[in-house]
Amino acid sequence: MLIPLLVVAILMLAAHEAGHVVLTRFLGGRWLGIEFKGIMVGVRLSVKSLSLKQIAWTLAAGPLSETYIVVLACLWRPHDAHWFLLLLGLEWVLNLTPWGLFPNDGTRLWRLWRKHALS
Ligand SMILES: [Zn+2]
Repeated sequence: MLIPLLVVAILMLAAHEAGHVVLTRFLGGRWLGIEFKGIMVGVRLSVKSLSLKQIAWTLAAGPLSETYIVVLACLWRPHDAHWFLLLLGLEWVLNLTPWGLFPNDGTRLWRLWRKHALS
């Protein structure tokens, strides 16, 4: 079970970052490259030409893109679906909670919302 879970986790990571890139480029932003910070990997994007709402969608596109991988994983190994769904849930809690300690999508969405609310 560990190998399929690891494979799904790696595919979720790739889908997550690709989701950010594809939607950003679709909306008119630019992809500047891949970024490594310690054990974390991410993409560098230029969103200067996007509205706040478009930026929010580019942030949400990463976690939402993982859903496709988990659905495919559940179809691939239905008896392990609970593990894949648990992985997705844990990833969303880690990534979408605005911890403020590291620049995850939740923290960026929170800062974006505060900037919009204050302007
Ligand atoms: Zn992300």
